[in-house]
Amino acid sequence: MAIEHTLSILKPDATRRNLTGKINALFEAAGLRIVAQKRIQLSEAEAGAFYAVHKERPFYGSLVSSMLSAPVVVQVLAGENAVAKHREVMGATDPKKAEPHTVRAQFAESIEANSVHGSDSPENAATEIAFFFAGTEILP
Ligand code: ATP
Ligand code: MG
Repeated sequence: MAIEHTLSILKPDATRRNLTGKINALFEAAGLRIVAQKRIQLSEAEAGAFYAVHKERPFYGSLVSSMLSAPVVVQVLAGENAVAKHREVMGATDPKKAEPHTVRAQFAESIEANSVHGSDSPENAATEIAFFFAGTEILP
């Protein structure tokens, strides 16, 4: 199978609690390779644009402000079947419903402050990667 890429975000609840290394270790143990990574402070415009697909949902405003509350770590992960594999390691959106070994079951604070974001399809991954990274920043 070809190597796939996906966009990962370690959210403010995770960076605030110094969990970058612990979460990255779970990704790497699952065979995902961190091929680009940076710690950034999102602007309101960036967070709003990134989550524009959720604009009509009741939690949109709260989600955007939570994404501004501390720095995030944005990453590109590479591997076979990376999009699906990453979502499996992340676990269900609601940590109460996530499998015990997953990032969200172990670390998420709530359904909103759920520690990580992952692209949900290879097509969306390409768009989301281009939102944060130039091609020259992604190295094998
Ligand atoms: P993500 O897109 O972050 O990887 P996801 O695909 O599991 O997560 P989505 O339905 O795309 O979940 O929702 C995007 C984000 O919005 C979630 O990760 C979570 O932070 C927040 N969210 C989703 N549902 C709720 C909810 N019912 N209440 C509060 N926040 C929510
Ligand atoms: Mg999603």
